[in-house]
Amino acid sequence: MSPPYGSRLANKVAVITGAGSGIGLESSVLFASEGAQVVCADINEKGAAATVEKITSLFGPGRAVSIRADVSKEEDVKKMIQLAVSEFGKLSIVFNNAGIMHPADDNALTTSEDIWDLTMKINVKGVWWGCKYAIEEMRKTGGGSIINTASFVALRGAATPQLAYTASKGAVLAMTRELAVVHAKENIRFNSLCPGPLRTPLLMEFLNTDDKKNRRLVHVPMGRFGEAIEQAKAALFLASDESSYMTGTDFAVDGGLCAAYVTPE
Ligand code: NAD
Repeated sequence: MSPPYGSRLANKVAVITGAGSGIGLESSVLFASEGAQVVCADINEKGAAATVEKITSLFGPGRAVSIRADVSKEEDVKKMIQLAVSEFGKLSIVFNNAGIMHPADDNALTTSEDIWDLTMKINVKGVWWGCKYAIEEMRKTGGGSIINTASFVALRGAATPQLAYTASKGAVLAMTRELAVVHAKENIRFNSLCPGPLRTPLLMEFLNTDDKKNRRLVHVPMGRFGEAIEQAKAALFLASDESSYMTGTDFAVDGGLCAAYVTPE
């Protein structure tokens, strides 16, 4: 990428979780390319730092900082939000995107309680902490945009069982909707991003056989997995003032999956 860059997020400060990989990585780079200053947060410290290095090499210094944050830990999330303010002066956008789909997450009979609890801790509680500290900060500046990553499995039952994950993403949708309503008059917008199945490490590790992959693809009218950058572009729209009259939406970016009955060749 080379100058000139866009200005769709000019003068905005964003925090992005899960910034070391997949959707979070692509969103960090894209947001920075549109003028935002970005706090790249991830439990994987090296991954977050590599994202900042990439942003710095593309757009120069002062555009991004990294922090190791486990979103399931309240103190870590608090520090992550505080870093946006101490480093860049304010907070305009939070993209609560970090999430896990554990390989041992299965059906109602085989999923263990510790996998259920771990999934809920990261995917649901982590989003709650991110929203909580974002609200406190955004109140000071008159509003902002919060995007929470859910999934198409929160909108449609999946054929490949992953019970804890599905339940966690349903919780993200419901929580986001309520937050949108409660904080609408404060000009703090909340929207859920519902990605379809993507060609990212998280899903490719989970769908680790051709059979598992095909069981998903048969439901996608476009006949392919999505790319992380396609989610980043949707998140950019939700983060920017272009979506100023949108709050409380379940924003599906899914190759037509949720619109389809069934689409085998
Ligand atoms: P990814 O595995 O490429 O990236 C996830 C990132 O989150 C990693 O860098 C990981 O280190 C980080 N992370 C994990 N646990 C964390 C924690 N406790 N605290 C902070 N960071 C943590 O996956 P991705 O596909 O980019 O997934 C991003 C989001 O999109 C997730 O919420 C996922 O559930 C959702 N999603 C993904 C797909 C898909 O097909 N890949 C589909 C629908 C929804």
